[in-house]
Amino acid sequence: MTTLYDLLAGEDNHPALVAPGKPPVTYGQLRENVVKLAAQLNQFGFGRGDRIAIAMINGPELITTFFGAAMAGTSAPLNPKYKQEEFAFYYEDTAAKVLITSPEGIPAAVAAALPTMTLLTVSADSKGRCSFERTGGATYAPKPVELSLKDDVAMILHTSGTTSRPKRVPLRHRNLFASAGNIRGTYNLTPADTTLCVMPLFHIHGIVGSMLSTLSSGGTVVCPAGFNAMEFLSLYETFSPTWYSAVPTMHQMVLARISKHADVVRKKPLRFIRSSSAPMPGVVRERLEELFQAPQLDSYGMTEASHQMSSNPLPPRVRKGGTVGVGHGVDVAIMDEVGNLLKPGQIGEVVVRGPNVVDGYENNPEANAAAFTNGWFRTGDQGVQDEEGYLSLTGRIKELINRGGEKVSPLEIDDVLLRHPAVAEALAFAVPHKMLGEEIHAAVVLKGECESAELRAHCAAALAEYKIPKKFHVLTEIPRGATGKLQRINMAKFLQVGSED
Ligand code: ATP
Ligand code: MG
Repeated sequence: MTTLYDLLAGEDNHPALVAPGKPPVTYGQLRENVVKLAAQLNQFGFGRGDRIAIAMINGPELITTFFGAAMAGTSAPLNPKYKQEEFAFYYEDTAAKVLITSPEGIPAAVAAALPTMTLLTVSADSKGRCSFERTGGATYAPKPVELSLKDDVAMILHTSGTTSRPKRVPLRHRNLFASAGNIRGTYNLTPADTTLCVMPLFHIHGIVGSMLSTLSSGGTVVCPAGFNAMEFLSLYETFSPTWYSAVPTMHQMVLARISKHADVVRKKPLRFIRSSSAPMPGVVRERLEELFQAPQLDSYGMTEASHQMSSNPLPPRVRKGGTVGVGHGVDVAIMDEVGNLLKPGQIGEVVVRGPNVVDGYENNPEANAAAFTNGWFRTGDQGVQDEEGYLSLTGRIKELINRGGEKVSPLEIDDVLLRHPAVAEALAFAVPHKMLGEEIHAAVVLKGECESAELRAHCAAALAEYKIPKKFHVLTEIPRGATGKLQRINMAKFLQVGSED
């Protein structure tokens, strides 16, 4: 059996979900509640093949609803903070038949503006048992009670949209089941583990990297209403997590907030700290390990692989800073443009295969044709493996800058700029150019006085002439996408820099 329901493997009386100010939910209660919610959805007329959108803030109610929706039909978690236009895009693109929200979920104005939408509202009783109430929209005839099977699509998610329009990814029960098992195996998760879930549960990192991996090990998920660096320390003291997973920006915020409280943190040390979704700066890794006295493990994930593709391993195996580690339950290799697998030390496109990788995008034959070669899925990331299989990412293929035929990795330029003491953030990007095709500019956020001429001289000391940014744009903040990622390929448009001579 390989459905999400089977993944809820914990002991009946062991806490599965806990949150500040809420009753703990045991595995026994969670399983019972999930079956009840799935039956209730069938009763409202939603069943296998129907997309059930969910827009709720993080919490035990969201997790219970997610499982109920995935066992009755297909769950489609959406960001409850979307503005009306974004919300309409995701809701319609998902072809959702119903939206589930909670009283503190999406603003009523957004919900009311969506056409022909059936709305269910979820509430929990004093024991944490959830139930749905229909609060608007069309009614449907009940469907027979029928739980999903391993090949059914458990969840629809969109990619983050960093390099193109967000693509729709159908994740089957068997994909998510396999991925949760891979992550559990990588970190030896057991019922004794407790994770502090700070990642949003509408993104693959939080859903699988924090929530499903922990539940599949019979451990406990601490699920506050969202990430709040101010609250981190008190959650840490109250719930004594053994690990947490986050994106590098959040780790930086945690460090900034709690580095003065090393005594509190060290009383209850973590087993490990996991980072994924974006490059982890070396200095942040060192400071995290110093503060928590625990190994920091960088992991590489993407939506189409049901999250994790590789990770640095736990001690006594070696973790290599600057790499995203090795595959666990996933084959990871490097491929050239025509489909040959490359050797250690050779740079190419990272490709993966395994039961966690989806069969393809939905309604997107061009993207599917481009994504699969000889059974391998092309990640769109460029990288290189060492002799022991440790993977280093060298950039995203779509972000490589082609300056008159010279391929430049913008990450290399970012790294050089970040080494200047006055630079807090840096992002090199391509600008259309009549002669060269693309010219290089860089956006920087400064933490001290610095002229462009000085930045240019600093780059010239480390980079070949053609890689030096032609122009530096000093900003107070570099804009990020919904999941906190820097959007390199949109920078020229954002700064309104047009084609140059
Ligand atoms: P889109 O596919 O729509 O352009 P996206 O690729 O950002 O968006 P996600 O699936 O959320 O959408 O993110 C996966 C990508 O995130 C990976 O392909 C990789 O580029 C990046 N990434 C993930 N983990 C890491 C990591 N540890 N270090 C560096 N980059 C990472
Ligand atoms: Mg992608």
